[in-house]
Amino acid sequence: MHYDIAVLAGDGIGPEITDGAIAVLIKIGEVYGHTFDFHPYLMGGCAIDACGTPLPEETVKGCLASDSVLLGAVGGPKWDTLPGDKRPEKGLLGIRKALGLYSNIRPAKLWSALADASPLKRELVENGIEIIIVRELIGGIYFGERGRKTIDGEEAAWDTEQYSVHEIERIARIACELAMKRTKVLTSVDKANVLESSRLWRKTVHEYAAKHYPELTVNDVLVDNMAMQIVKNPAQFDVVVTSNIFGDILSDEAAQVTGSIGMLASSSLGDTTLGLYEPIHGSAPDIAGKDVANPIATILAAAMMLRDSFGLTEEYAAIERAVQAVLDKGFRTADILSEGTQKVSCSQMAELIVEAIS
Ligand code: NAD
Repeated sequence: MHYDIAVLAGDGIGPEITDGAIAVLIKIGEVYGHTFDFHPYLMGGCAIDACGTPLPEETVKGCLASDSVLLGAVGGPKWDTLPGDKRPEKGLLGIRKALGLYSNIRPAKLWSALADASPLKRELVENGIEIIIVRELIGGIYFGERGRKTIDGEEAAWDTEQYSVHEIERIARIACELAMKRTKVLTSVDKANVLESSRLWRKTVHEYAAKHYPELTVNDVLVDNMAMQIVKNPAQFDVVVTSNIFGDILSDEAAQVTGSIGMLASSSLGDTTLGLYEPIHGSAPDIAGKDVANPIATILAAAMMLRDSFGLTEEYAAIERAVQAVLDKGFRTADILSEGTQKVSCSQMAELIVEAIS
């Protein structure tokens, strides 16, 4: 098969890590008989410098015309003082909106070879962890009505959490389908003891799951309890669905439990197979251009693209096996280095993974 992939390398370490992922995809193509065309477009700070806007029209058109999108990372101190709507991160929100991506899927996986990297006690993590957080991405308080005014002589501000049934149902569908392919158990996180929007969330998730996925078990956990359980017993969770703001916070917490931000990928999907695949970390300006970044998160993001956008599950598994094999041999980039392991550069790590794919 042939696939057109839009590549938004972005800023900082973005170009280094996307190069690694492209090398891996080319090797997968050779081994499994696929061809990939990679189409680079500007987004973020590099787009501001070249075109004066973080998300040029050409980038949106190019992404819409591709089969899927691979993103490095955007942002950096150079653009930090620009006004909100001119900043690199505005490009991220814009591209998600333009592609109609309403779900964000973040697997927080602890690889057995990196168990010591977790800040949790060994007995809590030694059997591995994989919490997949499905976060609603374009609704809720980040997009709700907000304002600021003087009330009783002092400044006040507000933001509004609002969800409609169809917004909850479409994210529930993505989470239910994922859970059905795995343990058939879904955890839905809300704050239904306090928030009206959470009460609608809970009711809608249950009704939707009961109607469309009767074999699925849906457990509810309050967000404050969830924050505790992720550090107390993370292995109890598999697929978790939650709102935009709760997902934002919990997915960072779950990522931290795995011990390395450089290992974690994420995908954003909507109604079609055109998705946006990226590492969860940022542009790491402190290490940009030094060939020391960990490219594995971006390589795993490319693997998720093969599985979730193109249905290439064998090819996905081949990349996971290659990463596992390279880690088992003791190769590590600086961020995951530990005693007795061998330090490699960003480009060397990508080459080792390419070589391990057979
Ligand atoms: P960051 O994730 O870029 O970096 C945090 C720390 O983790 C740094 O010490 C960095 O060196 C390290 N790190 C990150 N990725 C790594 C990798 N692959 N290998 C090795 N070490 C890695 O977060 P930050 O410093 O808060 O943000 C830097 C810039 O990135 C900011 O401009 C921010 O707005 C932007 N950002 C972009 C995205 C995105 O593009 N999706 C996400 C988060 C932050």
